[in-house]
Amino acid sequence: CKVNKDDLISETCDVTFHEINEMNAKIRPILKKVVGSDFFKYFKLNLYTECPFWEDNNGYCVNRACAVDIIEDNWDQLPEYWQPDVLGQLNSSEESMIIGNQTDDVQEEFLDQLCKFNNLNGNNKFVNQKFERDIEYCDVDTLTNHENAVLVDLTANPERFTGYGGEQSGMIWGSIYRENCFSVTPEDKLGKDPKCLAKDAFYRLVSGMHASIATHLSNDFLDTKTGKWGPNLELFMNRVGYFPDRVANIYFNYAVVSKAVYKISGYLKNLEICEAYDENVTGMIDQISSDIDTRIFNENLLFQNDISSDLKDQFRTRFKNVTKIMDCVHCDRCRLWGKVQTTGYATSLKILFEMDEFDAEEIVNGLTKYELIALFNTYDRISKSVESINNFEKLYHQKNEGF
Ligand code: FAD
Repeated sequence: CKVNKDDLISETCDVTFHEINEMNAKIRPILKKVVGSDFFKYFKLNLYTECPFWEDNNGYCVNRACAVDIIEDNWDQLPEYWQPDVLGQLNSSEESMIIGNQTDDVQEEFLDQLCKFNNLNGNNKFVNQKFERDIEYCDVDTLTNHENAVLVDLTANPERFTGYGGEQSGMIWGSIYRENCFSVTPEDKLGKDPKCLAKDAFYRLVSGMHASIATHLSNDFLDTKTGKWGPNLELFMNRVGYFPDRVANIYFNYAVVSKAVYKISGYLKNLEICEAYDENVTGMIDQISSDIDTRIFNENLLFQNDISSDLKDQFRTRFKNVTKIMDCVHCDRCRLWGKVQTTGYATSLKILFEMDEFDAEEIVNGLTKYELIALFNTYDRISKSVESINNFEKLYHQKNEGF
């Protein structure tokens, strides 16, 4: 990849590619454990909302790899402490509710029951807190609160090559870049205008997410001749490796999400993340946070003055559109990860751009558990991409040096 590893990532990130690689090497093993924990691996979402932007709801991906395995009336897939004999230990009203009718809603209710002492459920006094203006970068209610919402084990549905592509996916990416990204004018490029930094950041976020998806599908690619899954160097180079700006945008996204995680980690102590039956998840998050260099992203450079508040509104509206367009993706597995990641980026943006303006604790306590799950899974995705880029680089050298 033709990036100079000693270069800074961008004007807003005061760290080099090399420094991020080193940071990621420390964080990666712990982050993998965090997203493998029960709190972070179960996600509830509505996979079947109609595309709100164009009438094209009939398409579907025919490949098996496009499917999502859903936990649907299948108790066996849930951990042992959720099996009926353990359920018997709950009080009788909870028990009859669960055993009587195992609908998806009940399953979600059950998730809440097990986490009833933490703030991240419907009883959270902050969740319905009204702020004086909109602070959301995505619509979390639409994501999860729907009769068709399903419960998914993210670890059982890895993000990988699905075969989804062609005109339909090209149309989605095209619409995101064309309709929802800001156009950066030549004037913007001349000065260090904060407006320009915000517009530039928007494009980088989307392009970084696109490049990260391309990295995963190249890294976990199905070789139809051998029937085995594994890295495809040529595909990676053609999608990402030969484009230094795309590589840089993946690192940019790493910086954005890292800083958001850093900002909330101190406040997470107030939230019990259902640790009674899991490993010490908040301890692991603390450990990750202590490895994040705070110079990694300077969010204060983006919206600095009054003119910027209008720009911030536009930024928020456009990002919400990017999250909604995920309902137009015709491959369920791609849609699942598209939703998780756009929600994770939206949560990062809320943390970075709104937390300092309001009571920081209220913002953190107001996060729903789905926003937190999406945030950490997005961090895992982008961290995996950074790891894969380094692996692909080694493969590239091996190939070209004739090993
Ligand atoms: P595309 O990736 O579709 O790109 C279209 C055009 O955008 C390119 O021709 C190029 O001009 C430009 N472009 C490409 N990358 C960038 C970038 N990083 N920055 C700026 N511009 C760029 N497929 C899977 O196999 N697994 C998945 O999990 C998966 N998830 C997806 C999730 C979403 C939300 C979407 C919309 C698609 C997903 N896909 C997935 C499909 C995948 O992203 C590609 O669209 C598909 O593989 C076809 O690739 P392509 O080479 O035609 O170009």
